[in-house]
Amino acid sequence: MIKTLTTVGPNLGPDWNNNQPEHIIIHHSATFNGDVNSFDRYHRLQKGWVAVGYHYVIDKKGNIQLGRMETTSGAHSVGWNNNSIGICLVGHFDYEIPTDEQLIPASSLATNLCQRYGITSLRVISHKQSNIKRCGKPLKTCPGNNFPMNYLTSLVSKNMYKGIIYQLEVI
Ligand SMILES: [Zn+2]
Repeated sequence: MIKTLTTVGPNLGPDWNNNQPEHIIIHHSATFNGDVNSFDRYHRLQKGWVAVGYHYVIDKKGNIQLGRMETTSGAHSVGWNNNSIGICLVGHFDYEIPTDEQLIPASSLATNLCQRYGITSLRVISHKQSNIKRCGKPLKTCPGNNFPMNYLTSLVSKNMYKGIIYQLEVI
């Protein structure tokens, strides 16, 4: 069985062909609203980056938006940017609680990435977890203290177990 996910393109920024994904890192935007275009403007104009730092953004309605190309190193998790895909869910989950409207597409996207890169669901981690591994203690709460990371990874592992092929279609 095949499940097709719709993503809103195009990709932003250059193709540097320098990213080899082994992990999927989950972020929140730490803003109450926004989308890939507003983050792209912020990251380019305020931070001086080539494009939005994330590879994917999931907006408040659950739309999957394309950011950087997967083959381009990200700018989302120091020390992990050449070997991961960064997915950002819009919201500030220290204060809000993400709903299935965003979590289901996030889990489906993560499943697609796991399948394409041969990554297990154990390698779908939070930004906070990547910081723990790097620095010994978390520097941020990202993706937020209310974010149900275990629930998200359980959805991914269930998807993987069922053997459904997840495909991405760009509109
Ligand atoms: Zn983050």
